[in-house]
Amino acid sequence: MAVTKISKHISYKEGTHSNTAVRRRMRNEPDETQLAAMKLLSKKVFEPLRVHFDQPIRVNSFFRSAALNKAIGGSRTSQHCSGEAIDIDATNGITNKQLFDYIQDNLEFDQLIWEFGTDKEPDWVHVSYTANRTNRKQVLKAVKDGKPVYQIIEKGISIEEEVVEEAASKKKSKKGVVAVKTLLNVRNKPSKDAKVVGQLKNSKKIKIISEEKGWYQIKTSKYSGWVSAKYVKLKKATSSS
Ligand SMILES: [Zn+2]
Repeated sequence: MAVTKISKHISYKEGTHSNTAVRRRMRNEPDETQLAAMKLLSKKVFEPLRVHFDQPIRVNSFFRSAALNKAIGGSRTSQHCSGEAIDIDATNGITNKQLFDYIQDNLEFDQLIWEFGTDKEPDWVHVSYTANRTNRKQVLKAVKDGKPVYQIIEKGISIEEEVVEEAASKKKSKKGVVAVKTLLNVRNKPSKDAKVVGQLKNSKKIKIISEEKGWYQIKTSKYSGWVSAKYVKLKKATSSS
């Protein structure tokens, strides 16, 4: 029987999706051992988080075959290749910092990485879990210094670098500027009746992750949520030169 789910809230498709794999027509399918590792990580880390915050959590990258990992320039020791690591992004009024803090304080994990971003909010959270040895509970912070560098935040033994495919997918997110006379409400769902989780001032720069009928799903250093597209001016994508 074909596997359709990794866990209650992660479909097989989400767990194996990769833009690079699609683009390059590469197969990205875990074997039985890798799939078991993915299920265990989901059970021990992802699902408890999902239940605690009671909001969808985006899976940016989960399993990567060795070939795919090589194609994206990932570290040879990346735990994504064994199904032991996942990259996640908060949605609907929850911040990545909240995910990070909750994992650090409440869950068992092998490695937890604050991926780039600012001191207040990482761009995404990488977390791993292993059944092959004692989980190290190592907490790292990735900073850009030409190429990514990982700093140990807390106790830890070695630093395992992993370079990320998300760099490519991040580029696809649009940028915008808030254009309001007063304040723009950030809501936890794309609806004017949804709960307000924050407010943005005029000319605040925002990152737009997705769109839905008149609403933008956005991210700032402080908030993640939805804003009415009417009050956002899109910025032209700048060339990389
Ligand atoms: Zn990762």
